[in-house]
Amino acid sequence: MIGFNVAPFTGKEFDYIREAISAEHICGDGMFTKKCSAWIEEKTGTPKALLTTSCTHATEMAALLLDIQPGDEVIMPAYTFVSTADAFVLRGATPVFVDVRPDTMNMDEKLIEAAITEKTKAIVPVHYAGVSCEMDTIMAIAKKYHLAVVEDAAQGVCAWYKGRALGTIGDYGCYSFHETKNFSMGEGGALLIRDPKQIENAEILREKGTNRSKFFRGQIDKYTWVNYGSSYLPSDMNAAYLWAQLEAAELINADRMGSWNRYYEMLSTLADAGCIELPFVPDGCEHNAHMFWIKAADLEERTRLIAFLKEQGIQTVFHYIPLHTAPAGQKFGRFNGEDRYTTKESERLLRLPMYYGLKEEQVQYIAGKVREFYGK
Ligand SMILES: *Cc1c(COP(=O)(O)O)cnc(C)c1O
Repeated sequence: MIGFNVAPFTGKEFDYIREAISAEHICGDGMFTKKCSAWIEEKTGTPKALLTTSCTHATEMAALLLDIQPGDEVIMPAYTFVSTADAFVLRGATPVFVDVRPDTMNMDEKLIEAAITEKTKAIVPVHYAGVSCEMDTIMAIAKKYHLAVVEDAAQGVCAWYKGRALGTIGDYGCYSFHETKNFSMGEGGALLIRDPKQIENAEILREKGTNRSKFFRGQIDKYTWVNYGSSYLPSDMNAAYLWAQLEAAELINADRMGSWNRYYEMLSTLADAGCIELPFVPDGCEHNAHMFWIKAADLEERTRLIAFLKEQGIQTVFHYIPLHTAPAGQKFGRFNGEDRYTTKESERLLRLPMYYGLKEEQVQYIAGKVREFYGK
């Protein structure tokens, strides 16, 4: 069976985890956490990256730093993972969902303005499949209405919009290092902070409301409880795993991009014949081959295609159940405007196997079987 995901592993992970243990520092903010944060800062140009226990937690931190309150509204796509909404629902806010663009499956930037009310506090673009949302438009709307922007860049590590790293354009950017993402530490993430004035608040929030980060830097001689907070820092053993991945980031990306391009090449005749649709990458967007999706004609055809591929030893998956149709989405959120594409397009979309180390022959086999399904 060719699985749809295999957790990335380069070989160095064991050595680095052993090193973390030998250094007798396995709790948070050890040498590997420092290496990873510095790498993210250098690579993306963000003033500050804080490693977190997940992207979900990074988004929760952003919601806390923005002081999101009960009754506030936050605009986001309904086509996303639950975490995007959860972080704000936990603060008592209402997610206001807008429709997606069918070409990228990102939130339709043209529908944001109509969803803004007196209560709106933030816009949360999700860079689906590592393909950027239309950030110039989104940032201009945010500026006009004085709204914050939190980028859910869980899938967007090492992807770019007009030369800027995803996650560095809005006020906060949230990365995921879950095992299904391009670079992993099992469970983990990072919060990217654009405004240097917020760095200290974020450090305090992440360290149980204490100024321990300052203490570790030797800026104060004892640390104390200074604000509310929680524990959002990952173990240095997990960071050690991530460091092996970040060191090999270019290799991992090139490998994924090879598979992505091969899929695209082999399936484009099917797309030209109108059998399926393929991902679209707008001008100015440099994606990271996070995902390779195709769209079948409809739900029924997708169901048959998944079953057919499974018989051929190929595991394919679909996602997401649009949040406004889920029980919690109905309870906590609302959809603004018409659901023209979210539900319909989500029912057609299928993810083909995509991971570091997927072999050329496997890609050829999978694409060949998709073609066979359509009789080509
Ligand atoms: C994976 C993912 C998340 C959650 O990431 P975790 O690190 O598992 O919390 C959030 N949003 C999107 C769009 C994701 O793909």
